[in-house]
Amino acid sequence: MPIIRVALDVPLSTLFDYVVSEEMRLEIGQRVVVPFRRKQALGVAMEWVQETALAVDRIKPVTQVLDDVPPLPQELLALLRFCSDYYHYPLGMTVLAALPTRLRAVEPITVKQALDYTLSAAGRALDIATLPKRRVVQQRILQALRLAPLSGAQMRTLSPSAPAALKSLLEAGWVECVARKAGPLSNSLPQAGERTNEKGNLLLGAHALTDEQQQAVDAVTQQKGYGCFLLHGITGSGKTEIYVHLMHEMLQRSGQILLLVPEINLTPQLENYFRSRFPDVDLVSLHSGLADGERAQNWLKAQSGDARIVLGTRLSVFAPLPKLSLILVDEEHDPSFKQQDGLRYSARDVAIFRANQRGVPIVLGSATPSLESWFNAQSGRYKLLKLTQRAVQPATLPVVRCMDITKLPLQDGLSEPLLTAIETRLQRKEQSLIFINRRGYAPVLMCTSCGWLSECKHCAGKLVLHQKDRSLRCHHCGAQQRVPNACPTCGDADLKPVGIGTQRLEETLQTRFPNARILRVDRDSTRNKGAWSAMRKQIHDGEADILIGTQMLAKGHDFPNLTLVGVISPDGALYSADFRASEKLFAQLTQVGGRAGRADKAGEVIMQTAFPNHPLFQALRAHNYEIWAQTLLAERQMAGFPPFVYQALLSAEGKQESDAYNFLKQARSAAMELHMPVEVYGVVPAAMPKRANHHRAQLLVQSDKRKALGEFLRAWKPILDALPAGKLRWVLDVDPMEF
Ligand code: ADP
Ligand code: ZN
Ligand code: ZN
Repeated sequence: MPIIRVALDVPLSTLFDYVVSEEMRLEIGQRVVVPFRRKQALGVAMEWVQETALAVDRIKPVTQVLDDVPPLPQELLALLRFCSDYYHYPLGMTVLAALPTRLRAVEPITVKQALDYTLSAAGRALDIATLPKRRVVQQRILQALRLAPLSGAQMRTLSPSAPAALKSLLEAGWVECVARKAGPLSNSLPQAGERTNEKGNLLLGAHALTDEQQQAVDAVTQQKGYGCFLLHGITGSGKTEIYVHLMHEMLQRSGQILLLVPEINLTPQLENYFRSRFPDVDLVSLHSGLADGERAQNWLKAQSGDARIVLGTRLSVFAPLPKLSLILVDEEHDPSFKQQDGLRYSARDVAIFRANQRGVPIVLGSATPSLESWFNAQSGRYKLLKLTQRAVQPATLPVVRCMDITKLPLQDGLSEPLLTAIETRLQRKEQSLIFINRRGYAPVLMCTSCGWLSECKHCAGKLVLHQKDRSLRCHHCGAQQRVPNACPTCGDADLKPVGIGTQRLEETLQTRFPNARILRVDRDSTRNKGAWSAMRKQIHDGEADILIGTQMLAKGHDFPNLTLVGVISPDGALYSADFRASEKLFAQLTQVGGRAGRADKAGEVIMQTAFPNHPLFQALRAHNYEIWAQTLLAERQMAGFPPFVYQALLSAEGKQESDAYNFLKQARSAAMELHMPVEVYGVVPAAMPKRANHHRAQLLVQSDKRKALGEFLRAWKPILDALPAGKLRWVLDVDPMEF
């Protein structure tokens, strides 16, 4: 009888053999239900084999073949095999992780028709103002539907209680449910004009491209087969417009396009923007915020080739795309492309492999490319496309100034020039954004008489003071306690907050500008579902004067009335133990700075720093990424860091400190005994040596040749798997981004 090897979600590096009865029709890539450890498990048929090592009486039959959806394409299976091999992660777990949840269940799926909600005739005729005031959510939904139909998922971003409000609206007959049409979900979007391209096809809202843009588009469309392009362009230089033109061209050639964007950027606005540019094209999004059913549905549309444009976060790099003809990775440097648990893949790197496998072009776009990509562009492995001009007004980039905080007096962390600049914006009715990468009131509470600091009992970190609810919270493990009335060590009652967080900044600014409308955007203030999108609307509608925010505010949002960006104490990253910290900081500050400025005037960025002459600030002031990248590359080369070497990090954590260290020491000895051409470092504590009562340590291995590192890991991984680990948790991270 034929034997099939099946991928299962099991932490073993093998596939599992089952027999297939004569009457069963089974193809490679199909999902199957098989008995495994006294249960029925879902697996994927990977390959036929002639023989099995299992004894005849131990091999079990496949229970059921699921033919509800087409088999996974061979090409996707090959991609997953590559990932399993490259990241040294079990093949079964890799394959199953790529599937949407619905397809991982042992029941066949039933696909529902995608639905949108829209206003009925009665709903359109309704005067929203006549609704009782307290029905805010109903009103918000009706307002939103005036602009465009919404899916259930989009509806939920309006408010946590949107489902209940929607139910009432449906019952009242003001809202109705319709089958989703391919095409724009919105008709309220800007359409700058229409232009036909050479082939006479209409491209909605197209701008006449600048010469630089046209050259970039031509380079990619003329590419035959695989080619990796790095599109380096300052904010506002028209990268998105290039994506649109490239998509348009590939659609003419009947291809599918995958556009990968960072997690936080995938908002309904972005999706609607692309829908508005391609009203007649079937576009789906794929991200973890979708309901399971919708995600499975969109995935299947990608697989059938019906979805011509797939817009997604990192997980969408594993979508089956039979007609894939172009991959675009926007903000390619963004850390959210790297998955930090399970299969620790970099979606950007997997995308590059995928483009190569498929023989199609890939474009990585960024204003601040990762050093890895920049290095590859310098060495000629990637083709560099540059946009040096802004396509939009203001043609000039914001003026960046540094305030030397070692020379200027600070009032609760704020310098007079920054306060004055905020005041000017208030008078002009423009918005200011104050960026600080610390949430809470103050990073730590201190006793003024004995020097006691609020520390987490479970972590090697400080407890952050949250003034609103008088609590001390650990941002690493979530532990929380009330603020003590007196010092736990000496009993003194004089406890002082040290340093500044978003809440304290809010308080300071409110005292200084009592009439200003201040909006704080951080993980605490946006915890409730829908809160963040409500805030974005508030900012857009001009209902806030001063925005205080963490990196959430820095990314990819256009706030047209924002003309000032202030940055509070970014210095920690300059001399951090994490060698990537300053690279990340530069990208972040460029991005925040890019928020400032309006059509009629350039914005202003004020950074408060103790190191105004640091090369990072010099490069920021000059808007010169290239100089900065050269500086960093020189440093990395000297120090022997990526991109000049390839790394893998083995981390272990356990309740007993000795467990973690013993495991890593054994792993290290085994590595040395292999005598392979890689550098094996010593066992050291992790950057956060203790977290949630677990002691954490790590071991770094590196080589200047990717291949050598890969071969070493292939030899080392089975040894690690065989080491006694007890209750210890360990992971191997290839191309680690965090230490
Ligand atoms: P980026 O993605 O590089 O930040 P965008 O593509 O979003 O830049 O472009 C910024 C703004 O410039 C958008 O409003 C876009 O419509 C406009 N724009 C882009 N290209 C052109 C062009 N060639 N002519 C006029 N406006 C343009
Ligand atoms: Zn004390
Ligand atoms: Zn903690």
